Amino acid sequence: MAMKQFKAESKRLLDLMINSIYTHHEIFLRELISNASDAIDKLYYRTLKDGDTGLNRSDFSIFIEPNKEARTLVIRDNGCGMTKDELENNLGVIAKSGSLSFKNEQEKSNDIDIIGQFGVGFYASFMVSDKVTVESRAFGSDEAWCWTSTGAEGYTVEPCEKAEHGTTITLHLKPDTEDEKFSDYLEEYRLRSLIKKYSDYIRYPIRMEVEKRRLKEGSENDYESYRELETINSMVPIWKKSKSEVTDEEYNRFYQEKFFDWKAPAKVIRTSTEGTATYEALLFIPSAAPMDYYTKEYEKGLALYASGVLIMEKCPDLLPDYFSFVRGLVDSQDLSLNISREMLQHDRQLKLIASRLEKKIQSELSSMLKNDRDAYESFFKAFGLQLKYGVYSDYGTHKDVLKDLLLFASSNGDHPTTLAEYVSRMKEGQNEIYYACAETTARAAMLPQTEAVREKGYEILYLTDNVDEFALKMLMTYDEKPFKNVCADDLDLRTDEEKKEAEQQLEENKDLLSFLTESLSGKVKAVTLSNRLKSHPVCLSSEGAISIEMEKVLNAMPTTNEEVKAQRVLEINAAHPVFKKLCALYESDKETLKSYASLLYTQALLIEGLPIDDPVEFSNEICKLMA
Ligand code: ADP
Repeated sequence: MAMKQFKAESKRLLDLMINSIYTHHEIFLRELISNASDAIDKLYYRTLKDGDTGLNRSDFSIFIEPNKEARTLVIRDNGCGMTKDELENNLGVIAKSGSLSFKNEQEKSNDIDIIGQFGVGFYASFMVSDKVTVESRAFGSDEAWCWTSTGAEGYTVEPCEKAEHGTTITLHLKPDTEDEKFSDYLEEYRLRSLIKKYSDYIRYPIRMEVEKRRLKEGSENDYESYRELETINSMVPIWKKSKSEVTDEEYNRFYQEKFFDWKAPAKVIRTSTEGTATYEALLFIPSAAPMDYYTKEYEKGLALYASGVLIMEKCPDLLPDYFSFVRGLVDSQDLSLNISREMLQHDRQLKLIASRLEKKIQSELSSMLKNDRDAYESFFKAFGLQLKYGVYSDYGTHKDVLKDLLLFASSNGDHPTTLAEYVSRMKEGQNEIYYACAETTARAAMLPQTEAVREKGYEILYLTDNVDEFALKMLMTYDEKPFKNVCADDLDLRTDEEKKEAEQQLEENKDLLSFLTESLSGKVKAVTLSNRLKSHPVCLSSEGAISIEMEKVLNAMPTTNEEVKAQRVLEINAAHPVFKKLCALYESDKETLKSYASLLYTQALLIEGLPIDDPVEFSNEICKLMA
């Protein structure tokens, strides 16, 4: 029988696996037991669904069989087994997306548990073995096949004899070295503690023959030892155990193993109800966003169990998009196993569960915000963007669920604020919630348009994400206070007297302003005197619904066909010395005035973080002035 090569990627992974010294070798057992459990799940599911297997739940077991003489460890299951093709396809190649990014990850951080991260499962056996055989017989098939490999060189597949369906994996343990005693994995106490540690919640019995002692018959102090098959795991899934029985450590480990995260979750949520929908849910809020979180590749969803049997790995209908970062599972006795993906979408029970979970997640996040601000702030760093998209999406349908979970940077200090906190700090006479948009909070704080608002002692929210202003527009108000962009043309903080004065000033400078408007035609809609500038000479504002920031965002989107333009208004500070100069030029030198107008406009663009039309000309003009 010819030796077959592993697919290139698998080979690389195997090399890494075999030669890596920093992973926890012991996890090979967890991986093989989990595979065995999955294989049983598949067959048990079929048993429940079609009832054609002739099997009962009590027929299923996983066996662990150490053999010190042969120096082998056998992991045996009576699950679905594999056909010849499946053996080749499943064990000859690692088809997981994780394996691609594997090498890069590994280079970045040297001491993380690679396998725990990517769940490359079966290959972990090569960390402790120099030869592995997999004998398998698919359920319903009358032939069995044996897959053998000694590692990176390749593998063979040959026919073999196997009485029962299922899979028997035999590990030929590596010779002991100074650093590691592989023969430990043949010791009962070691195996027992590994099973307890990693696989206690596996739902099928993991059985091992153990040595026991008993009094010899008829004797009072003479013992004899005998061997007996014992079920090592407690078999109760972690979410079925009473809350007091499960430690944080156990939850964390369960989460990390099941969802391939190397960080412990930020929050564990356990919830159950009885009544119209009976279910148990175990949910986790990750402490960091997965690499692919903000991409199309990320799939939201919770694992769905019907009475302890997995029926769907990721059921998307259980989570709204704005809570798509939540991982976990739901186990319900109300769901039928005979349910297809399409039917699930219309399942009333499922809808009920989903809406309960949404409320639960919301209330847990609120309480985190209230009771553990630091944790919430770091949660928001990872997933706040998703919540803000949630406010904006579906025409604002979910804004009430989300509005109190939002945080924004503000002029109030280094820590972000909620909208409720902002409102509680609003000054006497302040009727609006002010915000400024820019690439960074530092830039937002520097915008000249913020001066007048700040002078009044009003707080300003600093919006730095593209979606922010759109989300606020969707909210429209918070606590009946409207949101106001400090750059909006109708921002007006003046007293009646000041207004009168300003009107007069406008009237006096009418001709100059229309000359300037004319000379900047096509660039701005109008040039006017500002009521918000204090020390800066100019700024841009926008008229109407579309702000300059929104213009930037909309035009950057690939789906926007027509260019969107904010109605720009150039505001000039009449109290600034530059304005006097403009007045003088209007009388004496209109040509120079035109070029000053263009310079001022360009400066306003720069302050706003917008591209300027002709940088070379701008630079030439400045030099002309300097020389
Ligand atoms: P993963 O379990 O993460 O998919 P593995 O490398 O551990 O990756 O296993 C690859 C595949 O081999 C599994 O998805 C499964 O289809 C198959 N397999 C592994 N072990 C068994 C087993 N004991 N019985 C049946 N199929 C198995």
